[in-house]
Amino acid sequence: MKIKEQIEALREELRQHNYNYYILDKPTISDYEFDIKLKKLQELEAKHPEFYDPNSPTLRVGGEVTKNFITVVHEHRMYSLDNSYSKEDLLDWEKRIKKLVDGDILYTCELKYDGASISLTYENGNLLRAVTRGDGFQGDDVTANVKTIKSVPLKLKGNYPQKFDIRGEIVLPWDGFNKMNEERIEIGEEPYRNPRNTASGSLKLQDSAKVSKRPLECLLYNLTGTNLNVNTQIKSLEKAREWGFKVPNEAKLAKSIDEVLEFVNYWDIHRHDLPYETDGIVVKVNNLQQQEELGYTAKAPRWAMAYKFKAEQVSSQLNSISYQVGRTGAITPVANLEPVELAGTIVKRASLHNADQIEKLDIRVRDKVFVEKGGEIIPKIIAVDLTKRPKDSQPTKYITQCPICETKLVRKEGEAQHYCPNFNGCKPQIIGRIQHYISRKAMDIEGLGGETVALLVNKGLINNYSDLYELTKKQVIPLERMAEKSADNLINGIKQSKQIPFERVLYALGIRYVGETVAKKLAKHYKSIDALSFTSIEDLVNVDEIGEKIAESVVDFFSSQENYRIISRLKQFGIQMELSAEVLANHTNKLDGKSFVVSGVFVEISRNELKKLIEDNGGKVSSSISSKTSYVVAGDKMGPSKKTKAESLNVPIITEQDFLKLIS
Ligand code: AMP
Ligand code: ZN
Repeated sequence: MKIKEQIEALREELRQHNYNYYILDKPTISDYEFDIKLKKLQELEAKHPEFYDPNSPTLRVGGEVTKNFITVVHEHRMYSLDNSYSKEDLLDWEKRIKKLVDGDILYTCELKYDGASISLTYENGNLLRAVTRGDGFQGDDVTANVKTIKSVPLKLKGNYPQKFDIRGEIVLPWDGFNKMNEERIEIGEEPYRNPRNTASGSLKLQDSAKVSKRPLECLLYNLTGTNLNVNTQIKSLEKAREWGFKVPNEAKLAKSIDEVLEFVNYWDIHRHDLPYETDGIVVKVNNLQQQEELGYTAKAPRWAMAYKFKAEQVSSQLNSISYQVGRTGAITPVANLEPVELAGTIVKRASLHNADQIEKLDIRVRDKVFVEKGGEIIPKIIAVDLTKRPKDSQPTKYITQCPICETKLVRKEGEAQHYCPNFNGCKPQIIGRIQHYISRKAMDIEGLGGETVALLVNKGLINNYSDLYELTKKQVIPLERMAEKSADNLINGIKQSKQIPFERVLYALGIRYVGETVAKKLAKHYKSIDALSFTSIEDLVNVDEIGEKIAESVVDFFSSQENYRIISRLKQFGIQMELSAEVLANHTNKLDGKSFVVSGVFVEISRNELKKLIEDNGGKVSSSISSKTSYVVAGDKMGPSKKTKAESLNVPIITEQDFLKLIS
């Protein structure tokens, strides 16, 4: 087979697998097999830039960086929707539209997806552009980011119109949202509050590679354009589905407002079973001819109506406020409520976030408060019923000392959270940190669970993670639920963890803001714990993607005597505190202190390999050219604006071959 055909066949095959996986939810090959094929295609494309295709499945991983999103005027305006909240509202609407059109009216009922609206333009079956709603007249071009969302087809199937827009909503399903939050909590960051804001924030990230890692989905609901060859809304949804779009199957045709209400009532209850969030339903006149006759008001179509579910809200009494201490020492205030039923569950606690929140709402113990379960997972207090406030009520005084160890709390400027700084002496921090140390992505210690860690700490058997390595079977056997076998497993699991590579050890240490990715970066750059522990903030911020916040936290960590002692002990016990010889063999310092920008398509190696080579040899890759850039490595099709910028700043532009010479 000719190379070109081979490339195209692979693209087609991968596209189909993407479709099976992300649209049909029925993969036919393993992730591993998929990755092999993708890699193959990447290699071929790198060798043959002449067959470049902006819609190749390889571009799903992102990489393009957008500094400023370009404003694009919508060819067809993106309207808002009118809202209704009751049967009466819907009947009024029906009355109004019946006056304006002849004949029976059928309605399409759809879920109202709660995310960020998006307009996708397709031409000849290719995704041309993705634009946010903006003010409805014009939005931001976020194509590079949207391309990384796997349920957005880059090429269409079947018999599609030559050119059209399709509108939808980019959502973050609960599963993915929760996973993202678990990871954030693990590294000591505050979790994201709700999927909607996280989804719309994702679209505005500058680095599309970051977007590609977010489990976003795109759900479509509206075709816009001329000569679309459909005459009803329900049919247009079907068509979109045929062309490869993700159009949820819940949409239903209703013959009357009563049937619309049945749909509403059904989903008001069952929406909690959906994988993503909905805040209501949307009713649309099904017949497109009738839609056209009805037209638009100044802000919304007359032919559609949103029906908002009632935000589930109850009132209850605030009995007390307790304060939790997290693994990083962050204090979270929690409201203890008189138990009350909300959205099908009994609620006893609500999140209060931080001191500012309590002050803003002036929440006091014994207040009657309104609790709402909106987009958030944990219910929150949204207001106080001041009419019911006891006469002798006093404003809440936020704690000034750690509720566990009584150390004076600190609050860094610009941060909302208070912290207990007693890193090594505060029980929940000690337990939390060891639990993090043994967790799956860190040291992955088999045979040891979170509860056992708490037991070991509470019994005084361990006080930090280095103590684990001195535990004996004799010590653990008397613990609750321990038997001969499980004690063996535990001791053995701890021993096994001495094999875990340095970058994971670094993550396991639980340095604030040092998550998996940052740990990898730091390990690669500094190569050993000694080098890292002697570094400075200035040096750290020079490492790619390491910001001030992380740098400070790292330096802070290593400046503690106690941490120094713990790390020395870990070393003694044989924990990997530097990159292995194998990894080091591929590393040099040849590019130390040099900063590179990579642009264009390369022949010998892929862009990602090139970046890796730069980093492995001590160089830094950055995304935009500045006077600090040492070289621009230019491949085929280098961006013209990059070229001008490099020339004006006198930054040398070198070829792939020149670069390979630099490191050979
Ligand atoms: P609002 O933002 O409350 O004015 O609601 C209008 C928005 O609802 C539109 O801009 C769409 O992005 C969004 N929406 C979500 N699901 C649908 C749907 N099935 N049909 C139409 N619009 C929808
Ligand atoms: Zn404390």
